[in-house]
Amino acid sequence: MEIEKVKCLIIGSGPAGYTAAIYAGRANLAPVVYAGLQPGGQLTTTTEVENFPGYPAGIGGPELMEDLRRQAERFGTDIRYGMATAADLSAKPYKITIDGEKVIEAETIIIATGATAKYLGLEDEKKYAGMGVSACATCDGFFYRKKVVAVVGGGDTACEEASYLASLASKVYLIVRKPYLRASKVMQERVMSNEKIEVMFEHNAVGLYGEKGVEGVHLVKHMGEANEERYDVPIDGFFLAIGHKPNSDIFKSYLDTDEVGYILTEPGTPRTKVPGVFAAGDVADPHYRQAITAAASGCMAAIEAERYLQQ
Ligand code: NDP
Repeated sequence: MEIEKVKCLIIGSGPAGYTAAIYAGRANLAPVVYAGLQPGGQLTTTTEVENFPGYPAGIGGPELMEDLRRQAERFGTDIRYGMATAADLSAKPYKITIDGEKVIEAETIIIATGATAKYLGLEDEKKYAGMGVSACATCDGFFYRKKVVAVVGGGDTACEEASYLASLASKVYLIVRKPYLRASKVMQERVMSNEKIEVMFEHNAVGLYGEKGVEGVHLVKHMGEANEERYDVPIDGFFLAIGHKPNSDIFKSYLDTDEVGYILTEPGTPRTKVPGVFAAGDVADPHYRQAITAAASGCMAAIEAERYLQQ
């Protein structure tokens, strides 16, 4: 297998990865970034970002990531397509396999692999994948203009996706398993005041039906103990917005993670328990998960990498 030696390997190309690259590039670490399955990360699936400092009028998610990419390249970052498919952090230099066919030997590694949308785990989600099931309203909403869709979840993501879909679809059901929304007040109000959105509290989606694609959802409404009602609601699209899973699987045998899989770092730093290996952004952040906090931890990781290499 082909082997390449690099000083600073950054895995992932979201705000954490690119910010780490900007700092590492300016510190002459000649960073190499592997962009992963979704170059630019989760923000490339968002429309408007209104809370990233420095953009008083907001900025499109893909546009923000394009700017970050160019800024990283300006300081000599080598950005490549490819997925890290295996890791060996047992000895230095650390080894990361790319696409199962090439090994990068790195003196220091910044893991910025982010998180991936979760699914309910229904067989029907697989059966109708790409045929009415989606975990990204901003990616796929366009296909549901003037149609009826359901969004599952009660957090900020679910509310945001329901509001976005309501601007395209004729009707949006928001399926919430609890009797309340977990989302922030402002997002709750936006959803509750939107005439096109019907919030269905204490409901669970248990299956989908349809001949060629999704034509409806099987729902269960919980009404107290051992009392439930089952019925079907016709829909054209089924959107998941129930949270994310950190992309840490290949590192789990070397690094500590919490029960969900978020990489544990020394509090207040991106240091993992392996010297020279740092974790930044959503893969190590179950709490904030914002673009700006990811960018900040990417910056910290690059500064740590630089200091580590100087030692
Ligand atoms: P959250 O974890 O906040 O919410 C997940 C939602 O999905 C909850 O309502 C949860 O229900 C529900 N859920 C989880 N599993 C299931 C299941 N198996 N069946 C049915 N429902 C399920 O995730 P989000 O992605 O919404 O948000 C993640 C973080 O990102 C949060 O901190 C959020 O504030 C932030 N965010 C901020 C935005 C903004 O500020 N513009 C936009 C989007 C996200 P339950 O409540 O019962 O656990």
